[in-house]
Amino acid sequence: MTTQTMPTTQHQFKLAARPVGPVKDSDWQYTSSPLVAPGPGEIQVKILYLSLDPAMRGWINEGESYMPPVAVGEVMRALGVGRVVASNHPGFAVGDHVSGLMGVQEYVNGNGQGWFKVDPRMAPLPRFLGTFGMPGMTAYFGLLDIGQMKQGETVVVSGAAGAVGSVVGQLAKSRGGRVIGIAGGADKCRYLTEELGFDAAIDYKVENVAQALERLCPSGIDVYFDNVGGEILDAALTRLAIGARIVICGAISQYNNTTPIKGPSNYLALLVKRASMKGIVVGDFYPRAMEAAAALGQLAQQGQLKAREDIVDGLEQFPRAFNMLFSGENNGKLVLQVAKE
Ligand code: NAP
Repeated sequence: MTTQTMPTTQHQFKLAARPVGPVKDSDWQYTSSPLVAPGPGEIQVKILYLSLDPAMRGWINEGESYMPPVAVGEVMRALGVGRVVASNHPGFAVGDHVSGLMGVQEYVNGNGQGWFKVDPRMAPLPRFLGTFGMPGMTAYFGLLDIGQMKQGETVVVSGAAGAVGSVVGQLAKSRGGRVIGIAGGADKCRYLTEELGFDAAIDYKVENVAQALERLCPSGIDVYFDNVGGEILDAALTRLAIGARIVICGAISQYNNTTPIKGPSNYLALLVKRASMKGIVVGDFYPRAMEAAAALGQLAQQGQLKAREDIVDGLEQFPRAFNMLFSGENNGKLVLQVAKE
């Protein structure tokens, strides 16, 4: 076994209470726990960056979902990227960088299952939590497999300036689509059109989305990639082309609801336009992860896939950083830096 000098304790964020509505500081417990050595066949990873994902809000609700809920008292679940600091596993050496489910803490032990190696010479480490990680895969399989996007089609994506949306739009452009992004605020909209090459952007905070879609999509929407749900989904339904596909990726506008989610009232547009609406859970596509990584890597190399990360420094900032996702304060993939190399 190879080791480095290690601390004896580590900090963690545990779920203190099931939140009702927006998550409060008191819903988390910041604790210090003994740091145990990895067991036989295990590795220990020093977490460098944690991914802040809207899905985390769903993971702390009670009830059935695509993953069991985080229990009260349990370390909060989070994807992360880190460096192996101790190894009893023949497949991982000290110094390797790995990505996978790690938890909101400074160190994690595991048998390597569900973790994959990443190479910091290929891209900055936080990018493996965004464009070259789970959000990038969601965009890739959501647009191409679920959305069945084809050349020449009009693609509309909400949450467009975020981790998933920014990849959806650029990927659709690279495949010959006409792309309209919906995002909050003039700066994000400018970023979409001036830096990412979207054909147009709609600022949902000041514009009437249905009217803007009518103006910008004269032949209708072929693929609507929905990250936000709620009123914006309803507006998109008013503008579908015949045979449109709606990809239900997320509904961030509804995640902090204290009342049940209200379905789209314009759903009969699906009938009139012979359209379909289908959900994606990115985990279903993990066996094909390499396909997405290769395609997105190539696109980035060709200069057709830009990325930006919004990095918040310090594990103790987790509660504040997490809520940035819901206020739209994040500019790009939101990442928490836990430690330096
Ligand atoms: P993100 O877009 O990087 O960050 C969240 C963004 O959502 C915020 O910056 C904000 O942007 C927007 N937002 C927040 N509240 C909103 C509201 N009430 N109405 C409209 N927009 C709002 O997050 P992401 O990681 O890319 O995730 C985007 C969506 O994809 C989420 O719904 C997430 O749950 C989903 N997702 C699903 C899967 C899957 O497997 N199905 C996997 C990954 C992600 P603005 O400033 O533009 O409002």
